[in-house]
Amino acid sequence: MARARRTTPKRTTPKRTTAEPATAPAPAAAPRLRARKIGAALARALPEPRCELDFDNGWQLLVATILSAQSTDRTVNRVAPELFGAYPTPAALAAAPLADVERLVHATGFFRNKAKALVEASRELVARHPEEAARSEVPRTLAALCELRGVARKTANLVLGTAYGLPTGFVVDTHVGRVARRLGLTAEEAPEPIEADLCRLFPEREWVAMGHRFVLHGRYQCLAKGPRCASCPLAELCPSAESAPEGSVAARAKAEGALVGARGEESGGGARS
Ligand code: SF4
Repeated sequence: MARARRTTPKRTTPKRTTAEPATAPAPAAAPRLRARKIGAALARALPEPRCELDFDNGWQLLVATILSAQSTDRTVNRVAPELFGAYPTPAALAAAPLADVERLVHATGFFRNKAKALVEASRELVARHPEEAARSEVPRTLAALCELRGVARKTANLVLGTAYGLPTGFVVDTHVGRVARRLGLTAEEAPEPIEADLCRLFPEREWVAMGHRFVLHGRYQCLAKGPRCASCPLAELCPSAESAPEGSVAARAKAEGALVGARGEESGGGARS
């Protein structure tokens, strides 16, 4: 992957505990105004962003998100139905033979670690949160989710925001980090300081949707190698743009929406809630 460019001076962000809410003092008006313009332009391009992992309930999304590490959503969406067919509930997966789970999730990579995490997380879910487990749901707090095996902030934020609409933080994966740095919204490299910067810049009510937008923008428009700057609806707002924008902002926003929609269909569609 191309090394991300640093666009603003490096600064130190206080370290937070894993499940600590992403809150911090409000930033100066200028960065927030820039963020608002970027957010508005992204919202114009991607008015209804969605997670590209398929799921029917919170537990399935948790499983899919664990499987998606170092894999693609398309692969996870292909593998997960057979896994859920064999083990349709947290209780069933908690009692599953590890070797069989390894076989079922093999195609997603790192299958031994993932199978172990899925079985142990299901056991912990059943033991600590039996009511949620009986409904194939998960606890609705960052702290409780992060106590489960294989679950860290990124996974917990994604599950709570996508399955339950809870803005516990900003999902930061490699796409989001790269996009945020290129747009000059952060100078950080590590996920938690990036998340803290983004949470300061965007209002809490926008964290869930904006997180999806940043992921999709990075996945399909602001590519790690060869970003599509000429057709990017954020080009006028981006200090890292590599080429002059072509056509109107409205036309580029429409084109990105179409691109993401088409690629989302190819990858198996979005979330089923
Ligand atoms: S202008 Fe280029 S670098 Fe900037 S956000 Fe768009 S695609 Fe990424």
